Amino acid sequence: MAEDCIFCKIANGELGTELVYEDDLVVAFKDMNPQAPVHVLVVPKRHYENIIDDVPAEVLKAMADAVKVIAEKEGIAESGFRVIMNTGDAAGQTVHHLHMHVLGGRDLGEGLV
Ligand code: 5GP
Ligand code: ZN
Repeated sequence: MAEDCIFCKIANGELGTELVYEDDLVVAFKDMNPQAPVHVLVVPKRHYENIIDDVPAEVLKAMADAVKVIAEKEGIAESGFRVIMNTGDAAGQTVHHLHMHVLGGRDLGEGLV
């Protein structure tokens, strides 16, 4: 666990954040500042800075599996949704613990951002 990392604390259950998904490797919870009707963050329990921090294949697979379960549970699997991983300063990554944003429940448009 990285010191003073908010997502390590959430994944550890220290903040009492309500989880929408949990397995051995991953947790997911609602973003506190939602950008869409469905805005869930998928977060590995172990601390990695971002997607280029030598993330093990099993962790990436667990994150993908979590996205599927969440999309089905939240009713956006059929309509479609967007997955975003902000990486580094230019992307505006503010929490330096690997996470996927899962956004859906509205028309997100055709662009990437
Ligand atoms: P980033 O810009 O790093 O990709 O996004 C970090 C996201 O984490 C932001 O959308 C922000 O709203 C969310 N976030 C930051 N701290 C917390 C928190 O303590 N609880 C929850 N639920 N979301 C958080
Ligand atoms: Zn962390």
